[in-house]
Amino acid sequence: MSIVRKVRAVERLFGRLDAEIQSFQSCTGLHCISGCGKCCTKADIEATPLEFLPLAFHWFINHQAEAMLEQLENDPSPICTLYAPLSSDLHLNGQGSCVNYPYRGLICRLFGYGASRDKFGELKLVTCKLIKEQQVESYEKAMALLNQKEYVPVFTDYYKKLMQIDFKLANQYLPVNEAISLALETVLSYYAYRPFPRMRKVA
Ligand code: SF4
Repeated sequence: MSIVRKVRAVERLFGRLDAEIQSFQSCTGLHCISGCGKCCTKADIEATPLEFLPLAFHWFINHQAEAMLEQLENDPSPICTLYAPLSSDLHLNGQGSCVNYPYRGLICRLFGYGASRDKFGELKLVTCKLIKEQQVESYEKAMALLNQKEYVPVFTDYYKKLMQIDFKLANQYLPVNEAISLALETVLSYYAYRPFPRMRKVA
């Protein structure tokens, strides 16, 4: 499958997930706290290269891929390279945002609104402490939906769907910046001996 087809397949998967999350949010009222980027400040976020292929391709067609790869190679921070804190002391207030939000990965979309199975096969919502503490009623509604076996997006199901697009690129869980770098390297090496894709420049 060509890179363009893989990118489009990942984008379609994200589109379906975003619609499911929107419906889950409107049923429960769960939402991220305005301006909060605390979950992006974690130093142990893991992701797969495939979930960042749309981002890498976006940078490539906008002639930013080499520069972004170089930036990543020279950045020793374990914090996601896309995270922009409002203050330099990012651990102090957790206020900040993703500078390329439409191109964020699968983990970024699922966290807060997706469920994982525990060792007994029961679904548990994977969300942040702030949401649990500050949106008690919404959190309880979400737990009730899970207990009633209503449909909610499940992490493993979505990662399996990602593997159906490209097993190798979706089966490597790496620190987030390494996953982004590998996505960039994949796009750059694919086009090293192929013509530049003909498409409009995307903002
Ligand atoms: S890609 Fe964006 S949303 Fe995901 S961890 Fe990085 S900054 Fe956060």
